[in-house]
Amino acid sequence: MRKIIIAGNWKMNMLFTEAEDFLFELSDNLEEKNLNSVEVVICPPSVYLELSSDIADDSKFFIGAQNVNDNSNGAYTGEISVAMLDSMDIPYCIIGHSERRKYYAESDEVINAKLKKLHENEIVPIFCIGETLTQREQNITKDIILSQLNGGLKDVEIEDNVIIAYEPVWAIGTGKTATPAQAQEIHALIREWLEENYSKDVSGNTPILYGGSMNPENVKELLIQPDIDGGLIGGAALDVSKFSSMVATAVEL
Ligand code: PEP
Repeated sequence: MRKIIIAGNWKMNMLFTEAEDFLFELSDNLEEKNLNSVEVVICPPSVYLELSSDIADDSKFFIGAQNVNDNSNGAYTGEISVAMLDSMDIPYCIIGHSERRKYYAESDEVINAKLKKLHENEIVPIFCIGETLTQREQNITKDIILSQLNGGLKDVEIEDNVIIAYEPVWAIGTGKTATPAQAQEIHALIREWLEENYSKDVSGNTPILYGGSMNPENVKELLIQPDIDGGLIGGAALDVSKFSSMVATAVEL
């Protein structure tokens, strides 16, 4: 059975002591919980990866990076490499977030290169895909999703080593969550694509997260959809009480 994954993406938020306080409080909140069927992941800004990793080592949550460079190493000022993440035992890394696609012009090709580099180092990518509002209004959501899957996962072998996050861009940070039916429709499409392009096993074992204004009020109705295996959470992951309550909901399901 697939685990539920509750992942928080802090983006460019949190000062050092805020990050520290959040992580210690989350650690306390999870201490007594039975998390057998739920995996909790926090993706802090890269400057806090060491701090976060140290706290996570004694806690029940895991750490992911928010981005990585597609080159191995060298003269890329300001960037971080997959080998660096690996040297710190970081198990997850978000790639292809719509903010990176939009503000840093990341193409499917670059995202595909990052994904392959992560796999070389056995780091699990949290691979984000999703349509914009214009694309949804033009009725091309499914085409966009399929082309992002084909591009981002080109020549990628999947074996329990990819997490897909469906994040409709119009729902990110806007307070407009996709309805459970809208989200489920696209999750089912992704699962079908995995079965056609890989196998029934890969389709059945690959977690597909929903992202876009998920919060303590709507988390349950989204998580009970058959093909929604968790959430990638932005805004509500900046508040430790809200984030912990979403984990608690997942544990109860
Ligand atoms: C995100 O950025 O991945 C996200 C889902 O943000 P929010 O939850 O704030 O919509």
